[in-house]
Amino acid sequence: MENFKPLIFGETKETLAAALAAHGEKAFRATQVLEWIYKKRVESFDAMTNLAAGTREWLKEAYDFAPAKLVAQKHAGEGTEKLLLQMRDGALVECVILRAPQEVAGEERSRKTICISTQVGCAQGCKFCASGLAGWKRNLDAGEILAQIMFVCKLGGDKGTRDTGLTDFDNIVVMGMGEPLQNYEATMTALHIANAPWGLGVGARRITISTSGVVPKIRELAEDPMQFRLAISLHGATNEVRSQIMPVNKKYPLEQLVPAAKEFSEKHGRMITLEFILIENVNDSVEQARKLAGIAKELHAHVNLIPYNTVEGLPWKRPSGNRQMQFLKILQERAVPATLRREKGNDIDAACGQLRLRHLKDEKAEAEVSQK
Ligand code: SAH
Ligand code: SF4
Repeated sequence: MENFKPLIFGETKETLAAALAAHGEKAFRATQVLEWIYKKRVESFDAMTNLAAGTREWLKEAYDFAPAKLVAQKHAGEGTEKLLLQMRDGALVECVILRAPQEVAGEERSRKTICISTQVGCAQGCKFCASGLAGWKRNLDAGEILAQIMFVCKLGGDKGTRDTGLTDFDNIVVMGMGEPLQNYEATMTALHIANAPWGLGVGARRITISTSGVVPKIRELAEDPMQFRLAISLHGATNEVRSQIMPVNKKYPLEQLVPAAKEFSEKHGRMITLEFILIENVNDSVEQARKLAGIAKELHAHVNLIPYNTVEGLPWKRPSGNRQMQFLKILQERAVPATLRREKGNDIDAACGQLRLRHLKDEKAEAEVSQK
């Protein structure tokens, strides 16, 4: 970001080592700095006591440590918590903590997922989505993307994942505000740091990138050696329905998207997920369910059905429970692995982008009131 120092969270081992070397420091200093940040979880350069005072001063000059301020936090009933974080330029970013009960080795434990944003707003303009409503403001940089995860770790006092014993959450999903594949470099750098043994050490299979279907970037991701998981926001099983609610489908229609998704899953040898929001009288017909089953079978994909969350100012509604079940049944009859998410957070702006939108509206209302 212009006018701001780079965030230390955006540096990889390689970039930090190069920056330190250019300053005349030994490369192993980078390893030490990263250890302080990701293993010992200190929050200032001053706390890095095995570095020379001069090195610490230089780091303080070169990098910023404090990226995000919490401006709102909402409990979304059972297990869901939304955080609204303010970046240094005032931009508002949402991130969500989801806890779902899960049975592990006969024991009930809570599975914790962190959902992060990659852009401020979104340019994709999906008709049902609050993130797109206020338009695209800017991309987040790698440091700002990672900072969301670090913030959640700090909030939970986290100290360990099952993979490495470092952080106490199970999954990262890139399903917050923004289209990650339209901010590819920064997203991949942040996820690389989250995954790296010198970083947070979260296994690649615990990291899922969700996209609205930017075909060339899906192909690029398929070539990437990192084994991240992929989710595709399908939301329409024919071009007619999909184009009606997702402008991206006009550029990359299903006949391009489906083969790209297939290439990804074949290269990675892993099941992808098709996200399908159920919206009344838009995409919840028997015909859509049958067509969706066909696509899912072709891709050997898992289908995640999400009852639509109403967004203030938008006309869409979620179908009745019966209709949701009917849709699910059609998939199950065709042996498509599918789950129907039961939304609990409708009333607290649980869907992505809504907390920010509400906050912006409140600010606008406050500004109008104070002008009077
Ligand atoms: N831009 C990416 C990732 C962020 S969107 C993408 O579209 O995949 C994250 C998910 O939230 C998407 O599947 C999106 O379709 C869904 N979503 C957006 N608005 C929603 C709403 N009102 N109700 C339910 N899900 C919604
Ligand atoms: Fe952007 Fe995803 Fe929302 Fe579409 S659904 S507007 S791609 S954040």
